[in-house]
Amino acid sequence: QCVQACPVGALTEMDYKYPVWRMLNDPAKTVVVQTAPAVRVAIGEEFGMAPGSVSTGKMVAALRKLGFDKVFDTDFAADLTIMEETTELIERVKSGENLPILTSCCPGWVKFLEHQFPDLIYMPSTAKSPQQMFGAIAKSYYAEKIGVRPEDLIVVSVMPCLAKKYEASREEFSHNGVPDVDIVISTRELADMIREAGIQFSQLEDQEYDSPLGESTGAAVIFGATGGVLEAALRTAADWLAGQDLQEIDFTAVRGIRGIKEATVNIAGIELHVAICSGLGNARKLLNKIQRGEADYQAIEIMACPGGCLNGGGQPYHHGHGQILSKRLEALYRDDKNAPIRKSHQNPSIRKLYAEFLGEPGSHFAHKLLHTHYIARSKK
Ligand code: SF4
Repeated sequence: QCVQACPVGALTEMDYKYPVWRMLNDPAKTVVVQTAPAVRVAIGEEFGMAPGSVSTGKMVAALRKLGFDKVFDTDFAADLTIMEETTELIERVKSGENLPILTSCCPGWVKFLEHQFPDLIYMPSTAKSPQQMFGAIAKSYYAEKIGVRPEDLIVVSVMPCLAKKYEASREEFSHNGVPDVDIVISTRELADMIREAGIQFSQLEDQEYDSPLGESTGAAVIFGATGGVLEAALRTAADWLAGQDLQEIDFTAVRGIRGIKEATVNIAGIELHVAICSGLGNARKLLNKIQRGEADYQAIEIMACPGGCLNGGGQPYHHGHGQILSKRLEALYRDDKNAPIRKSHQNPSIRKLYAEFLGEPGSHFAHKLLHTHYIARSKK
């Protein structure tokens, strides 16, 4: 079912609320939900809360009231993405091959690269996005733990992003015909479901995520802002290379909503030239510069939406009020600052996942489950 998203009806937005209601009412299915980092700092706006409110606890409570069997956090999988992506970053920097490494969390940007820059297809990290890593782990590790067949476990994602609906449908993200992620709804669709159920969102008492796929760090929550994925990776890379628990973990040079940022960061004595870019027009400029041989970056983060996922196409409308985006951005970094653990590799549930199931970051099994490939497509 589609709802009109364009005044002349030329474009429609896919509406997946009804498949979610159907699954929640099917007693044969176990239905779990994951919520992306940027959703928690924006959903409150749909219920009259001030921009920049962090509504994580109320959102978790609302999802339980809607009937989800478990409420989990995409932030857990963002920490997992950092484990795999940082392993790849360090390998590529040490070998000097296939540089720069490009982050690959954003399906809008990945599709753009596949069509517009097929000659650079070797650059993106092969690590799956947090949404897809979550689905892969839920349908293997977690399904096994609770004794449910992968086909009877339904994974619903709440994303700030409409391109995530497309990402979940890519055929490389299914195994034996079972998709890793079954249904993706946007922040706005979740708000509609909460209203349809008559839940008074702002009156809800805060609740915690379920375990074990609900534990996360400050590094994961900043994935919602442009520059956040790269900063999270730098925190882990610095600790791993130094062999220490470093105290200086705020890489402020990569922060802010500017469309293109460049910085030189020192991690454990290694100087890395990095770039952070949001908006596809800016991505084109940056990639053209690389093609002309005018740049020597080692790592680049690109997000399709200007400002990153906090400004995703599935978020509450801000009608051009830039202040709303700044408030969401501040909220993400505040959440990071207040987190008891701020580095992905220190997440206890992630450590347990590797010890019990995956082996080492970058292991053969981790590659099979958590990595993907990209397709050089024609510009047509
Ligand atoms: Fe989706 Fe935009 Fe975030 Fe990319 S930047 S993942 S398109 S919300």
